Amino acid sequence: MVAAFGLGAGEEALEIAIRYSQQRIQGGGPLSDKQGYTHKLLVPNYVRMEGARSYIEYTSQRLDSGEHGLQTEGAIAKYGASEWGNKAADDAIQALGGYGYTKDFPVEKIKRDIKICCIYEGTSEVLEMTIYRGRWQEHLKSRGRYYLDMADRLDQVHAEEPKAGAHAAALSLRALAAVLEECRVQKLTRHQHVTFKLGKLICAAETAAIFSTAAAAKKYSETVRFDREGWQAMARVFAREAALNTALEGLALVQGAAETPGNLADAVNIEAVQAEQKGMIADMDLVAAKLKQTFKAK
Ligand SMILES: Cc1cc2nc3c(=O)[nH]c(=O)nc-3n(C[C@H](O)[C@H](O)[C@H](O)COP(=O)(O)OP(=O)(O)OC[C@H]3O[C@@H](n4cnc5c(N)ncnc54)[C@H](O)[C@@H]3O)c2cc1C
Repeated sequence: MVAAFGLGAGEEALEIAIRYSQQRIQGGGPLSDKQGYTHKLLVPNYVRMEGARSYIEYTSQRLDSGEHGLQTEGAIAKYGASEWGNKAADDAIQALGGYGYTKDFPVEKIKRDIKICCIYEGTSEVLEMTIYRGRWQEHLKSRGRYYLDMADRLDQVHAEEPKAGAHAAALSLRALAAVLEECRVQKLTRHQHVTFKLGKLICAAETAAIFSTAAAAKKYSETVRFDREGWQAMARVFAREAALNTALEGLALVQGAAETPGNLADAVNIEAVQAEQKGMIADMDLVAAKLKQTFKAK
């Protein structure tokens, strides 16, 4: 329930900002036409909220079908929607400039309200620990295959539908497997900071996998408000960001904690992750256009 609150509040704040940006003229044109604005404050946030939506629906469907033991999935759903929603609401205030800070527009209230999602029913930090613990057990039990197997399934998705970001999601999962393995070999999970940060990386990588899989499906959930072209561009943007963050933050985490840093740059496939960033700006342009089209100025 808290996950749905985070999702709804985050998207509402962004939708207010998207409509506002089409009416506010600065520097000779509407803010909605300026990449420095849209690609920082609107597009990445909306894309993350759609990732959260995909993950919430995926988990809800499994729960509705009677599955038990989905504590880690529940934690990922709540953590992602709360953290990304909170960030989205904060950026929505920024997107409205001075008006965002006042009570004339509801974004400041949304920001105050959404913050509780990061605190009650499991603080974000406690959830990072929960997510890490759940998936660390899977990594050990499977002898490091847990995320490699998931990446193989994403390769299949990519073979059937190459436009949904599944290749980038697979890169993210393989980088995650490499980071987890290096943490095991070097016993780095004795540092609480490492374990919590792993929880964060796991949330983004798994959400990328679920979002790309949903965006590759022939039929979309009725909650998706975008056409195939737009939603797949969102999944690609999300998956690229996840791959980059998993590889770079994972690398930095290990380098920061290890006494003898290994050759993790190769293991996380940093070159492939960087090459995968090709087309990012064009996709963000496309998402910005779809957002404008879907949430027109009133
Ligand atoms: C509006 C509101 C409604 C609420 N409703 C309910 C309710 O209906 N039922 C209910 O039972 N509770 C409710 N709560 C309480 C809420 O669940 C707690 O505030 C929340 O769990 C955090 O606990 P705490 O306030 O004791 O903070 P603390 O546990 O002291 O946490 C403070 C900070 O330390 C971090 N932290 C805590 N433990 C660790 C650790 N081991 N390692 C690293 N960092 C850690 C936390 O993540 C947080 O950032 C509500 C709170 C609010 C504000």
